[in-house]
Amino acid sequence: MSATEQLRARFESVFMPNYGTPPIALVKGEGRHVVDADGKRYLDLIAGIAVSALGHGHPALAKAVAAQAETLAHTSNLFLNEPEIALAERLVGLLGVPARVFLANSGTEANEAALKLVKRVAGPDRTYFVSTVAGFHGRTSGSLALTGKDAIREPFGPFGLDVRFVAHGDAEALRAAVTPACAGVFVEPIQGEAGVVAPDPDYLHAVREICDENGAAFVLDEIQSGVGRTGHWFAHQGHGVLPDVMTLAKGLAGGLPIGACIGFGPYGTAFAKGDHGSTFGGNPIAAAAALAVLDTIEADGLLESAARLGALLAQEILDVHHPLITGVRGAGLWRGIVLAAPVAARVQARAAAAGFLVNAVTPDTIRLAPPLTITRGEVLEFTGALPKILAAVAAEGDGDGAGRR
Ligand SMILES: *Cc1c(COP(=O)(O)O)cnc(C)c1O
Repeated sequence: MSATEQLRARFESVFMPNYGTPPIALVKGEGRHVVDADGKRYLDLIAGIAVSALGHGHPALAKAVAAQAETLAHTSNLFLNEPEIALAERLVGLLGVPARVFLANSGTEANEAALKLVKRVAGPDRTYFVSTVAGFHGRTSGSLALTGKDAIREPFGPFGLDVRFVAHGDAEALRAAVTPACAGVFVEPIQGEAGVVAPDPDYLHAVREICDENGAAFVLDEIQSGVGRTGHWFAHQGHGVLPDVMTLAKGLAGGLPIGACIGFGPYGTAFAKGDHGSTFGGNPIAAAAALAVLDTIEADGLLESAARLGALLAQEILDVHHPLITGVRGAGLWRGIVLAAPVAARVQARAAAAGFLVNAVTPDTIRLAPPLTITRGEVLEFTGALPKILAAVAAEGDGDGAGRR
């Protein structure tokens, strides 16, 4: 048995079977590359699902985490720590408008905080929420209730939350669903787990307007889109629209667990003492990591780079002109390669065999979310290898299902 096969067998005998066993075991990373248990090296174009924003082993992140671990690893919310305060100040500064922050440990927790915040402001007469078909907001009961993927939500309901789903990007459907009895609307700027699907550019404006007309909260889930992914600090900044509540997680601390729920205007101060909390939230190591991520994005011009190299990546993929590719969706360094057949899992496997990690996010979409530190040479290395990868898939024949998720 290879080292990978041994790890897979151990994984399968000890973990709950909620994940399909991943085919690859990673043991180390350096920059945009990772190495598996059998020594094979890959260019990482998925970055742990849009998380490893600075790639792997980045010295700024490693230094910040090590220094904080040596100094003070944890305080709980019984005590203040300076890194959590500095991080919240930094986030508010990047937003450029008055806001208040709650720190959690994951995306789903950030959305749970947002849900409670909205309930706090809405009061008892606003009885339902609106969310989007195929949208993803997390796996805990509140955020799962808001998730528009029937297959993962329905087996676990009912949730005691009235959620109505409308098509993402359909402003008229949203207008019809939102009334003065609606507490809040949960939306992703671009749907990540649905396959990196972007709405029309004026959609977020319409969501803002519809929420304002009905007094409903506009909650923007920027867990996957935020922290530079689209070439802006936060995707909504590219639209000139401000939500009432924004959630962050994934790329924020470059690989350490973190989540943030940010409230604007009255939503910033709606929680009363005792309304919410988290033992690990505001953890100084995670906060130090997030500060290192934000400082590096700024110092190294990674927003501009995400916009420029993201556009190059999309164009180079289209220029491959392979019949299996029907389009490229998304923004910045966050892309969905749309395939003409449900062969995404095979493309993922063939790409891995060729030394590239990509993600079959839906049966016919390959998701790319590389580290924001990726270089032009690395982008071209991948697009240069695509024709061979696709030719190998085409030679195999008919379709299959999606990859792990
Ligand atoms: C990943 C994701 C979540 C859930 O985050 P977890 O950290 O896995 O709980 C929620 N919303 C969006 C848009 C996401 O991409």
